[in-house]
Amino acid sequence: MNVKKLPGSPDVILPKYKTAIFVHGCFWHGHKGCKNYTVPKTNTDFWIAKIARNQERDQEVWRQLEALGWAVIIVWECQLKKSALNETVDHVEDGIKKNGKSLQRTKDERKKTIEGYQKERKVQRNRRNL
Ligand SMILES: [Zn+2]
Repeated sequence: MNVKKLPGSPDVILPKYKTAIFVHGCFWHGHKGCKNYTVPKTNTDFWIAKIARNQERDQEVWRQLEALGWAVIIVWECQLKKSALNETVDHVEDGIKKNGKSLQRTKDERKKTIEGYQKERKVQRNRRNL
């Protein structure tokens, strides 16, 4: 699986769980409420517009990935600090588990649909042979 082929080139992908993980810089991607995201006092309008564009691009990438059946987990740079790491690992793990579960559900549903279809075909075949 080539990460580069996926929209937005995720930092980490877990193909088994169809989960893409992005590590986002707090400033460039505008981490709301984060102390690492403070708009510079000079050229303020420029920075606000630039970061807003980045955020729009991010959302477009998530939409594209989700349309392809991928779930997206965002890890912010500040969450990689040693003091926050445990919480971040939990957050990622929860996300992966949730995605795994919904993926399994989709698989089960698909399997049931196929089984139902096969059963129907069998009935039709038997009817024809009568
Ligand atoms: Zn942050």
